Amino acid sequence: MSIEQTLSIIKPDGIEKNVIGECFQRFEKGGLKIVATKMIHMDRAKAEGFYAVHKERPFFNSLVEFMTRGPVVVSVLEGENAIAKNREIMGATDPAKADAGTIRKDFASNIEENTVHGSDGPETAKFEISYFFEKNEIFS
Ligand code: ADP
Ligand code: MG
Repeated sequence: MSIEQTLSIIKPDGIEKNVIGECFQRFEKGGLKIVATKMIHMDRAKAEGFYAVHKERPFFNSLVEFMTRGPVVVSVLEGENAIAKNREIMGATDPAKADAGTIRKDFASNIEENTVHGSDGPETAKFEISYFFEKNEIFS
């Protein structure tokens, strides 16, 4: 266990559903601190770069369309085991498989429009945080 930082995104469906505060509350109640946050509207190139690891997947184009259809809230969450903790708070990728009480179980529409993103490991967290934030925008 160690203090980690992870990247969170509240996706366009989360903004449309008006659950920014609900997501933030779950992060905070789960012991995570929001040490950076902003609302942005990604263009196609920004979303494609973010999801580059998925570019061969059949859902890539649809995912990029979805992620660029409206603004998102990107945040850096910090705390003990933050990467795994955030994934636990989010729930499984497919809301039908997500545990009760998770963000995706409660708010996600389907496997694509699943309300939140969270980094999946230390290396991706580092890349993803630097993809959206300068060092001086993070208040650890
Ligand atoms: P996670 O976000 O849980 O880490 P992945 O990294 O596997 O999941 O996928 C990235 C995102 O791509 C998902 O959060 C979801 O928005 C979308 N996605 C994943 N699998 C599918 C799928 N089978 N069909 C459509 N969209 C998908
Ligand atoms: Mg992932």
